[in-house]
Amino acid sequence: MTRFQYIALGITMMGLNLDRASADEKRPHITIRGIYGGVPTELLEHSTLKDYGVNAIFMGSGNLSAERITLLKKQGAQVFAEFNTMHDASYLKEHPDAAPIGVDGKVSPPPQGWQGVCPTHPGYRRSRMAAFRKVLNEFEIDGIWLDYHHSHASWERDVPDMPDTCFCQRCIAQFQQQTKTELPDEPTPQLAGLLLAQHKQTWVQWRCDVFTDWVREFRAIIDETRPSALLGTFHCPWTEAEFDGALRNKLAIDLKAQAKYIDVFSIMPYHARFGHADDPAWISRQTTWLGNHLGMTGEPGERHKIWPIVQLADWGETVSVDQVRSVLDHGTRRPATGVMVFNWGWLKEQMPKVEQMGEYYRAIRQ
Ligand SMILES: [Zn+2]
Repeated sequence: MTRFQYIALGITMMGLNLDRASADEKRPHITIRGIYGGVPTELLEHSTLKDYGVNAIFMGSGNLSAERITLLKKQGAQVFAEFNTMHDASYLKEHPDAAPIGVDGKVSPPPQGWQGVCPTHPGYRRSRMAAFRKVLNEFEIDGIWLDYHHSHASWERDVPDMPDTCFCQRCIAQFQQQTKTELPDEPTPQLAGLLLAQHKQTWVQWRCDVFTDWVREFRAIIDETRPSALLGTFHCPWTEAEFDGALRNKLAIDLKAQAKYIDVFSIMPYHARFGHADDPAWISRQTTWLGNHLGMTGEPGERHKIWPIVQLADWGETVSVDQVRSVLDHGTRRPATGVMVFNWGWLKEQMPKVEQMGEYYRAIRQ
């Protein structure tokens, strides 16, 4: 055999092995094969969800209707709602006092247009809790996922923009009272300086606790209204070490504390959007960190679950058709026990990727 033939044979065998691996590799630990972003009507015009191996649809709670839920249930799919917690910017039009305050004592401009809300504003919290309760009362959903449950920051990108907030009088007063910390009688910029220096640890933990307490109340509402529904969260995919600990220090996300109330962690490793366009393995590295952090392995019967939402749509960077399989491979490795793709609104224009997704979902199905 010539050297060239040897190489050609090697390449052919590699191809055969890849095909066999994908065809044989059932992933029974993966119980959810989902699409995020609404009813995939374009797909249902000529096929069923089963044809694509899909058994779960995630959609914004504002798009829910009884008809849509019935349609999806008939297709054998579970239906999960997404719920906007801290990014209901329209609230600020009539309640400007709910805008987050920056280190200078003034309203913090929305970083890259991303508008958050002060987490201790009582009216805002009441309105979100009422909206959450209404969704659960009205719709027969299998679960509800918190979205944007973090501070005023633009982080869904490779270079995040995360101003320090919220230094409104109410936040500072509650911090002092609840942590028994005495601050001098000084203007906000001086107080913000103290909070971010000598009181930083207490300040960061208090902010995390404020956001966790929202999650506690969401859980209580589920327990009252629809206890069979799962509580999930779409959350930032960084480890607690990345970006100088921004997950806790800036975004106020304490995953371990929230785990007391959350059933499913939907980490958001949008590899292309986050600067890892050529490295889909980043997805499974972040998921592995999360599992270790929360003490999970993805075995059946575990209290918590990890269902990553992975990027197939082009956002920031393109995701090629050839990469779909690898993205889903890394998204469905333990400790993950479910997966969903982001997002139908854009993917419906890119059906070759949807076909690849369907092929993969069918291949790993039991
Ligand atoms: Zn505030």
